[in-house]
Amino acid sequence: MSRLLFQGVRGEPDLSESLRVESLITDHCPLTTPREADKLHEECGVVAIYGHPHAAREAYLALYALQHRGQESAGIATADGAHLANIKGMGLVSEIFTDDVLAKLPGHLAIGHTRYSTTGDSALLNAQPIRVDSTKGLIAIAHNGNLVNLGNLRASLERDGAYFQTTSDSEIIVQLIAHSSSGTLVDAIADSLSQVEGAFSIVMMTRDRIFAARDPRGFRPLSMGRMKNAEGPDSIVFASESCAFDLLRAEFIRDVLPGELVMVSQDGVTSRQYASGVPQSSCVFEHVYFARPDSRIFGRWVQESRDQMGRQLARESGVSADVVVPVPDSGVTAALGYAEEARLPFRFGLIRNHYVGRTFIEPEQRVRDFGVRLKLNPVHNLLAGKRVILIDDSIIRGTTSRKIVRMVRGAGATEVHLRISCPPTISPCYYGVDTPSKSELIAANHSVEGIRQFIEADSLAYLSLEGLLASVRDEHKTGYCTACYTGNYPTQWVDVEDILPAAVTT
Ligand code: SF4
Repeated sequence: MSRLLFQGVRGEPDLSESLRVESLITDHCPLTTPREADKLHEECGVVAIYGHPHAAREAYLALYALQHRGQESAGIATADGAHLANIKGMGLVSEIFTDDVLAKLPGHLAIGHTRYSTTGDSALLNAQPIRVDSTKGLIAIAHNGNLVNLGNLRASLERDGAYFQTTSDSEIIVQLIAHSSSGTLVDAIADSLSQVEGAFSIVMMTRDRIFAARDPRGFRPLSMGRMKNAEGPDSIVFASESCAFDLLRAEFIRDVLPGELVMVSQDGVTSRQYASGVPQSSCVFEHVYFARPDSRIFGRWVQESRDQMGRQLARESGVSADVVVPVPDSGVTAALGYAEEARLPFRFGLIRNHYVGRTFIEPEQRVRDFGVRLKLNPVHNLLAGKRVILIDDSIIRGTTSRKIVRMVRGAGATEVHLRISCPPTISPCYYGVDTPSKSELIAANHSVEGIRQFIEADSLAYLSLEGLLASVRDEHKTGYCTACYTGNYPTQWVDVEDILPAAVTT
């Protein structure tokens, strides 16, 4: 059983010039999180609650809905106007936040975070929210994304006397706030956000205020909602994805805009545009894979985007077949669109075991392809004697795709045609997605025909870039980042050397 330490702070903020990062919970959950080697990994999920008598519980529920965005660690910080408490741990949200733990988080303000490490190591030291006692008072921060100008900023902050206690890029933002010469906290936050480059959707909390902001290009999603309270004014809630609002019975208000800083206090909601004039480049892969289909991100339902991707894929690369089968779960919505467009039956020919535990220890490859067969199992009577179109959302290294193709053929399929609902992944992501190096990306090093031969499919086709962009196009004219498919990065420069590799905690 994991143990957690609780930290709370009473009294007035420390106004000394030095900046101090709270010593963090030091206990580790003994579980490890095996990473699916052939999938890109979600980044992080953030939530914030203002003005709810049970803010910690609401934050817990919202994090629960965002668990798919990160499973390594989670944390909740709360404030009641005078005190600020913070609890975080390694593991899943439901493992960390039992009733007893939530009872130790009083207050009507809360921010929360669920993490899959993309910079820094994955230890509890870098779990969030990070709480900092600074010249601007107590600040807690939770961040989704990746900064790309870490080295310069970190070096200059250290020259100014900053003492970093984590390797997380998120701490750079709070250090910048603490060292800002701006007179007010909101000015200091705007000042610090305008200095960092890269991807960030951020929620911050002081003893009595909540802040939410997105980077000027709007890489990662962040939405604002409202919860009705029986007594008193509405609660305001922020979350990485709108699916979190459903669990809270919150009403979606709008997205936080790229380059916008929103503040919620007892005076209500105020907003300022701290950066403007930068072309939007929201992550298109959120629509392809990361976000839940029941979320509305970047002004558009993810379900609708994936359905269109499947339909477009069928128009671009139709093939004579008997049945359309998704690779669950992420391939399901695109496969439904494909099947409808192609007028072919849709069947769940592969079943995913949702209970493959994080604690499972794979016994030394006793059986070939054991890892994939733990998660997926073919439905023989649906596949035997059939020409099968398999729909998946990506091929990263190709090894898992080959195992799945073999599995379907092993169940008796006479042909296996693999269709991918996005273009070939040819470049790593530096904006908060854990991507293997270019040398490990099969599409960066092989032609489509070469990949087809490797995965042993009868045919292979990807959705075109034009087809992908057409599938996510809307009246808002949202601009998208497509760098992992094109190699064209939207930031001015990428300081690759500064981006710390993610590492597995064992
Ligand atoms: S490089 Fe790919 S995964 Fe990364 S932000 Fe751009 S579209 Fe998203």
